[in-house]
Amino acid sequence: MRILVISDIHANFTALEAVIAANATVDAVWCLGDLVGYGPDPNECIERIQMLPNLTCLLGNHDAAVTDALDLEKFNHDASVSIRWTKSVLKQENLEYLRSLPERRSSSIFTLVHASPRSPIWEYVLDPYTALLNFAYFETPFALVGHTHLPLVFSEDDSTKQVKRVLVKSGEQVQLSGRQILNPGSVGQPRDHNPQASFAILDPENLTWRIRRIEYDIPSVQSRIIAAGLPEKHAHRLAEGW
Ligand code: ZN
Repeated sequence: MRILVISDIHANFTALEAVIAANATVDAVWCLGDLVGYGPDPNECIERIQMLPNLTCLLGNHDAAVTDALDLEKFNHDASVSIRWTKSVLKQENLEYLRSLPERRSSSIFTLVHASPRSPIWEYVLDPYTALLNFAYFETPFALVGHTHLPLVFSEDDSTKQVKRVLVKSGEQVQLSGRQILNPGSVGQPRDHNPQASFAILDPENLTWRIRRIEYDIPSVQSRIIAAGLPEKHAHRLAEGW
């Protein structure tokens, strides 16, 4: 069984399509939230994601802000401009879809949240200390998170309780063991200075996690961002991956 794990699409339909095209044969898709925000294609992304096979989709902080479940003042200026624009163009049924998304899902092995197990739509798990605190907030061996836009793996050493942080490169496969917090990186706005769309392939039987990166047509997304009147910063950053 192969599960495509994606997160932080951020209304970048070109990147989403490239990731889906590269994974036509997966058995299921787990989407860790932030379907919208920053990018120019919120309706297209929400509609496409709902068509994915055996989909589990979670609520992200940008999704919550668009549905008024989260205060806009929590966002920086450019992010809040994008959220306001998204609210103005979103179809009613797509807004309803965002409203229906859960903050947390778990199976016997995996806990899924957008941001962190401790604070499912807000906290950034960027450093080993924050990860260490978060291991107390889920019961399964593994937690899958997005939100930082970085393909990170945090592993807890069972005896010392020390946490190791690894930024996973494209094509690298991680053998899951012990307790770990895993992030597939971002489809629509990577922030590790690699502009390629990021996603993970999870094999829940063999417990493997592989990060892959793929190119997509960045200039076409940039011109749609500019044409929509969205902050130019969100166009520029796509080319450099920050
Ligand atoms: Zn995000």
